This record gives sequence, C-alpha cells and structure tokens, in this order.
Amino acid sequence: MARYREAVCRLCRREGIELYLKGDRCFTDKCAIKRRGYPPGQHGQRRPKHSDYGGQLREKQKAKRIYGLLERQFRNYFEKADKMKGKTGDNLLILLERRLDNVVYKLGFAQTRRESRQLVRHGHFLVGGRKVNIPSFLVSSGDVVELREKSRKIPTLNESLEAVVRKGIPPWLELDRESYRGSIKTLPARADIREPIQEQLIVELYSK
Ligand code: SF4
Repeated sequence: MARYREAVCRLCRREGIELYLKGDRCFTDKCAIKRRGYPPGQHGQRRPKHSDYGGQLREKQKAKRIYGLLERQFRNYFEKADKMKGKTGDNLLILLERRLDNVVYKLGFAQTRRESRQLVRHGHFLVGGRKVNIPSFLVSSGDVVELREKSRKIPTLNESLEAVVRKGIPPWLELDRESYRGSIKTLPARADIREPIQEQLIVELYSK
C-alpha cells in the first residue's frame, strides 16, 4: 500500500493548522507550525490566493491528511458515503472515524494515527476475539477492540494509554484500561467528531 513518506510537519504548514501528526511533540515549542506558520516551499510566504475551489480543495486535503489517506482511498469513502442514507458529509466523517486505526488511536493505544496503523498492521489487536490487521477495518456498534496479551508490555503503548486517561476519550467509545480493552458503545454521530473539518466543502468539491 502506497503511503506518504515525507516530513509530516509540512502537511500542517500547508494546511495552516495543527493536524497533530507527531504526538507529544505537537504540544511543545518544537511544533513546526508555531515556528514557521506559513506554507512550505519557495513560494510559501507569498500572499495566498482565495477561491471557492481553492477552499474546497484545501478542506479535502486537510481531511485526507488528518486520517492519513491517499486520494483514491479517500475518494472511495466519499463514494460509499454518497450511496448511504442521510447527509453525505456526515456519512463520510462517520466512516472515517470507524476505521480500526482511528479507533485504536482514539482509545489511546497510540499517540498518532500513523503509529496506530502500524500497530494494527503488525497484528497487535483483536476485534471480537479475532486478530484483525487491516487498518481500514470498519468497527460496528458493540465491537470490542482488545490489545493482544503478548503486546501488553510495549512501553510506548503504555505511555500513550496513561496520556489518554488524562485527556479522555470520545463518548462513543469506552476504555477498560486494566484489561486493555475498548468497546464501541455506539457509532459516532457528527457532533461527536471534533476534527476541524468542514465536510460540506468536500461534498461541493466532489459534486462538481
Ligand atoms: Fe503538525 Fe505536530 Fe508537526 Fe506541529 S509538531 S507541525 S502539529 S505534526
């Protein structure tokens, strides 16, 4: 599977917003967007041009980058969301939130989605008692995501869990820290999704 391999701080600088792609570092003075809050590259400090299309494109790029997806994968989610009942924009965000790598990240097993994707790929998690190593696996209401017994000693993972106990987790998830188990109480509603994404702009972009 192709994936983005360049410096991730460039992505934040391009979007002009913290996307929190580097875990704890994002909350320190080393954050690149705090030090150089303009887009990367030779023309980064020029005055930006604003157009409707430009705004829609940036919003789509931002959403893709938050969830760590490439264009084709993101487009597939949009097409799936478009076929579902309800608002396409809401459906799109809900589908993205249901990805197993996102759930592992939100439950606090990893500090970033990139890290959680690697943990899932390496087979550290069970869903409903079965090993699942597909980051795009969509969780359902009632599913239980559990860290495998032999993976419970990974130090970074325990540090992340300590941090999430302090920060809290979304209301649609529940974490049992002692048993390394998280459950999906219910599927997320749009209001539960705090990522700074204006999904309507993405719908407008893809509906042209
Ligand atoms: Fe973005 Fe984090 Fe890098 Fe700051 S440190 S620019 S929030 S990835």
